[in-house]
Amino acid sequence: MAFPATRLRRLRINPLVRAGLQETDLSARRLMAPLFVRPGRGVRLPISSMPGQYQVSIDELVREAQGLRRRGIVSILLFGIPSKKDNVGSEAYAASGIVQQAIRAVKKAVPDMLVAADLCFCEYTTHGHCGIIRKGDVDNDATLKIIARTAIAQARAGADIIAPSGMMDGMVKTIRQALDKNRFKNTLIMSYAAKYASAFYGPFREAAESAPKFGHRHSYQMNPANAEEALREVAEDLAEGADLVMVKPALPYLDIIRRVKDKFHVPVAAYNVSGEYAMVKAAGQRGWIDEKRVTTEILTGIRRAGADLIITYHAKDLLLPRI
Ligand SMILES: [Zn+2]
Repeated sequence: MAFPATRLRRLRINPLVRAGLQETDLSARRLMAPLFVRPGRGVRLPISSMPGQYQVSIDELVREAQGLRRRGIVSILLFGIPSKKDNVGSEAYAASGIVQQAIRAVKKAVPDMLVAADLCFCEYTTHGHCGIIRKGDVDNDATLKIIARTAIAQARAGADIIAPSGMMDGMVKTIRQALDKNRFKNTLIMSYAAKYASAFYGPFREAAESAPKFGHRHSYQMNPANAEEALREVAEDLAEGADLVMVKPALPYLDIIRRVKDKFHVPVAAYNVSGEYAMVKAAGQRGWIDEKRVTTEILTGIRRAGADLIITYHAKDLLLPRI
């Protein structure tokens, strides 16, 4: 049936009809806030390329988590900046490592906060790469051993979700086996399954102090031009036992989010990364865009593309209804 019997504007004229028929909802429970924790007390260091984001000490982190929980944000993703780095990133898996301490503190103060721990070594190594270096490149299988140790340390500290981000082959299987062997069979794995070698990570490297000292990450992160390969990565991680799969970054890869969702019918997370955040903030500060509306539109777009969960630095800026 065509015009004039069909008038699609009829669905938009009354705001109640328009709102009632909205297809995609953006609620606080869909958002996960990434946070950066560092040693010290009362520390709150602004990250200059990410206005509104800070490196915080554990006491401040707890306050941050409480504030987020009050706004209805029920999950956080933790990144650690260690007190000292070495060439194997040992503070990542030390029981007293910064993230392990942070997990314990948050779970104690805000027990109903879902805590995900990023699992990688680039913040913890002197060379800034995501694993153990052999012959000038990250050695995949040697890195798997410290991935297992780190997953157990994070689970022991109370992490609900282990989120391996290093794009090592076999990392999900390694973590699942290590967790199961240590009786953490209900600890979830959110795999950074399709992680692209993206220029949009720029501000994060300042935030996490994780820029590589030599070379690049192209031997483990994906070529931005590839989509089929992303589906293979996701299939692989699901076969190895990933509970949620992530696409990162989000905005330039909305097609990947949709294809993953359509093909696998599994929970999909999308990481709205630092560079995406920084662009919106920069334009917003200059008055070039309406920051709030743009942010809502972007996050709704990522949801519409198929993401169940969005990891975003905008989480605390959005005034969303409590759940
Ligand atoms: Zn890394």
